Amino acid sequence: RAVQLDRIVQDSVGKMQMLAEVKEIILNAETEASVPMTGDEERLHQLLTALLDNAIKYTPEGGVVRVGCRKLAHTAVLEIEDTGIGIAAEHLPHVFDRFYRADKARTRQEGGTGLGLAIAKWIVDRHGGKLRVESKLGVGTRVVVTLPLSG
Ligand code: ATP
Repeated sequence: RAVQLDRIVQDSVGKMQMLAEVKEIILNAETEASVPMTGDEERLHQLLTALLDNAIKYTPEGGVVRVGCRKLAHTAVLEIEDTGIGIAAEHLPHVFDRFYRADKARTRQEGGTGLGLAIAKWIVDRHGGKLRVESKLGVGTRVVVTLPLSG
């Protein structure tokens, strides 16, 4: 149950690197050396995978996805930022709803179920954390997750 979030981040980013390369997206991770927390390693992997999958999926070729993991006071801060298509302000409040997909015509070709963010939020809730999405249409999206540090 004691996990290092920075390791989980590096591991997940490593696994997604191939997908990013194929899409000619630069995927960078900047992690602080030790970000200890109490949690479910498998679920936290799943969280990273869902968020990275979205960032890569909704970012066109030549884009950049940046992942950061650091400590701030008593919290771990995880950020996933992309230079992708972004989310319109009117869709933003609904992206955590199950099966919700912004602009259905656009996203249909990308596959997906609309469950990714609902699952991500569920995992963050279960760890006593918070998740928020900031986005600007045509500019990019930033997902910020804060989770309690252990100790
Ligand atoms: P999946 O279950 O495969 O992740 P999905 O991507 O459609 O399918 P969610 O991850 O729940 O479902 O995301 C909900 C909607 O939010 C998406 O359909 C998409 O419109 C929008 N969205 C999520 N992440 C991003 C992102 N990084 N950039 C742009 N739009 C996003």
